[in-house]
Amino acid sequence: MCNIGVFIGEAFKKYSFPDRPLGGERIEAFWKILKKERMVEEKDIKIIAPVMATDNLLLLFHKKEFLDFVKDASKLGFIYLNPILCFGGDTPAFKGIFEAACYVVGSTLLGLDMIMKKEFNHIFNPIGGMHHARRDRAAGFCVFNDIAIAIIHAKKTYHVKRILYVDIDAHHGDGVFYEFYDDPMVFIADIHEDGRYLYPGTGFSNETGSGEAVGTKLNLPLAPGSGDEEFKEAFKKVEEFAYQIKPELIIFQCGADGLKNDPLTHLNYTEEAHRYATKRLHRISHELCDGRIMALGGGGYNPDNVAKAWMEVLKGLLD
Ligand SMILES: [Zn+2]
Ligand SMILES: [Zn+2]
Repeated sequence: MCNIGVFIGEAFKKYSFPDRPLGGERIEAFWKILKKERMVEEKDIKIIAPVMATDNLLLLFHKKEFLDFVKDASKLGFIYLNPILCFGGDTPAFKGIFEAACYVVGSTLLGLDMIMKKEFNHIFNPIGGMHHARRDRAAGFCVFNDIAIAIIHAKKTYHVKRILYVDIDAHHGDGVFYEFYDDPMVFIADIHEDGRYLYPGTGFSNETGSGEAVGTKLNLPLAPGSGDEEFKEAFKKVEEFAYQIKPELIIFQCGADGLKNDPLTHLNYTEEAHRYATKRLHRISHELCDGRIMALGGGGYNPDNVAKAWMEVLKGLLD
C-alpha cells in the first residue's frame, strides 16, 4: 500500500516573484484540480502543512555570507540575489523572500524525514525542486537549493549511501549537477532541453562526473521541439541507470516546463511524459529502495500545464 504526503499551504504562495513567470498561480492551479478530482478524500493522500527550515539546515549546503545577504535583501525587497555579480543576476529579491525560501527548504526536508522514518512511502512537495541555486548565489528563480540540502541531510543524518536524483525539468539542473559532480554517492540523471538553446546553457552528454565519481552522472539533452516519444526514449536510459546503481533513495524533480506551450522553453511534451516517468520511477522505488521516493515540483510557467503534469505525478505515485 502506498501512502503519500503532499505539502500544500498558504505559505507556498509567498514564493512568488512579482512580474516574473514564477508566481503563486501555479500552486493555486494545482490545488484547484486536486480538490476538483477529490483526490484527498478518495485516495490515500495526506496534506502536510509547509514548515520553515532553520539556518543550520540551510548551512548544510549554503555559505553563511550568502544566507546573511539573502536576509538583508529580504528586508529591502529589491536587488538581485547574486553577490558574485555585484548584485546583478537573474533572481530578484522581494520583501519576505528569505522566509518564503525557508518554507520551500523546510518542507522538502520534513518530507525527507517522513520518508526515512517510514511515516510516508512517498512525498510530493510541489514548491520544491530549486535546482539552479548554488552554495553562494541564487539563480533561475531558485534562492536556496532544497534538493542539495536534502541530499546532504540524507547522507549525514540517515547515512544513505546511494542517492538517485532524477531531473526532468526542461532546464538542466546545474546547481545540483555541478555541486555534486565529484561525489560518487550521488547519482544524477537529467533530461532537459539542449543547453545550446536554453538556460542555463549546460548539461552536455560528455559530462559524466569527475574523479571517483566518473560514470555517476548522466545528461540526456533533447533537441528543441522534442515531444513524448523522444522523452520516453531518453527515460529508458534513466531506468537502465537506476537498475544498475540500485539506489537507497530517489529524489525526483518533476518540473513541468517541458510541456508544449510553456512560455520559457521549446519542448513539446504532454502530461503523458510525467505519467510515464513517475509510474516507472515509482515501480523502481518499490523494487529497489522500499518505496523511498520524494517528488519535487520544479519549474513550469504555464499554470494549466503545471497542474496537469503534477496531477500525473500524484497519480503515478498512487498507481
Ligand atoms: Zn508506492
Ligand atoms: Zn525549468
